[in-house]
Amino acid sequence: TINLGAGPSSLPTSVLLTAAQGILDHDGTGMGLTELSHRSGTFKKVIEKAEADLRALLAIPDDYAVLFVQGGGTEQFSATALNLLAAHAVHNPDYVRNNNGQGPPCDYVVTGSWTSKAVKEARRLGFNANVAVDARKAEGADGKFGMIPEVSTWNLSPAQSKPAFLYYCDNETVDGVEFPNPGFPIDRLPKEYRDTVPIVADCSSNILSRPIDVAAHSLIFFGAQKNVGPSGVTVVIVRKSLVVDPDLGVEHGGPRIPTTLVYKNMLDNASLYNTPPMFAIYASGLVFDDLLRNKGGVQGATERAQQKSRLVYDAIDASEGILIPTVRQPGARSRMNVTFRIARPGTATPDEALEDRFAKRCAEHHIVQVKGHRSVGGIRTSLYNAVTVEQVQKLVEVMRAFVQEVKA
Ligand code: PLP
Repeated sequence: TINLGAGPSSLPTSVLLTAAQGILDHDGTGMGLTELSHRSGTFKKVIEKAEADLRALLAIPDDYAVLFVQGGGTEQFSATALNLLAAHAVHNPDYVRNNNGQGPPCDYVVTGSWTSKAVKEARRLGFNANVAVDARKAEGADGKFGMIPEVSTWNLSPAQSKPAFLYYCDNETVDGVEFPNPGFPIDRLPKEYRDTVPIVADCSSNILSRPIDVAAHSLIFFGAQKNVGPSGVTVVIVRKSLVVDPDLGVEHGGPRIPTTLVYKNMLDNASLYNTPPMFAIYASGLVFDDLLRNKGGVQGATERAQQKSRLVYDAIDASEGILIPTVRQPGARSRMNVTFRIARPGTATPDEALEDRFAKRCAEHHIVQVKGHRSVGGIRTSLYNAVTVEQVQKLVEVMRAFVQEVKA
């Protein structure tokens, strides 16, 4: 079965086989991985190796912490803001007093559903969220996500107002919008802004599919359940100088933070402050090892991602308007989540019955989970790292045959 779901995704077969053995008897201990104590030397080796391999894959500098936490990407919508607001309060003790009691602005670049949710959460918690850009409202966007407006049109807070952070999502999983290669245009931000404002990236659905300049960011997070595989662990890569004790910032207007969301607790305890998601960390570690040692690292993944998405977009572009990409800007088409609608020849109007039929044709070829997110409909094929080029070729055959069927 070829799983093109948007997550949780598949794991490479070799990783599953190793994990299956590890669940029965890990490393000759006579106990399964998930039965071990998380404080045992055996598990410590597992988590340390996972971190070391991830550091090697992404070239993470030493002044960055790698934290394995729970709560998913959604919990990071609040945790990123809380911890960076705490750091802001600790580093700028007079700020709130001199700013009429107002917290610092938090800038959001909204290019899809997940950044939109992050803004909602920040506002719910009472933070001073500034939507620097909402791609739905850009010229020609028709109220829908599907493009990335030019940086020069973004309404960023002035650097002098000391924003607590700028937040973006590198690949919007629901809408199929990804920042064009080589990634988010940090170098196009005003110089003073990029030199002083911490930049936060949600890379949940495209981490390890192309290089990312970690040092240009202050914080990168991703849930493992897409390009890595198992659900249950979220990785936070954060500049250590921004990891503070939030209680020291409270009297300066910083937030109080629930214990398990405090990055400092996770850093000081090597992600073992409380019981961690052991299986998810273990399986993620196996995927990191496999990518690093057997599959050419991030460079190998980058080439495959390019090749796979090219195959699918070529089939879309050759369909003479039957397969309609939902992302209007070709450069912003996601390499990970390819979203499109299906229309009868010459109509350009999405036809849900045809989309259902396409999903059925896929299922007949053991290709599953191709329907779009329930909020947007249409078709979405997710081409995460575990999806092979051969599997995508199979998908493309089905797509091309379906186009012929619709035309006939
Ligand atoms: N961010 C992105 C880009 C996502 O794709 C998702 C989930 O699909 C999330 C955040 C939320 O992740 P979770 O379901 O782990 O809370």
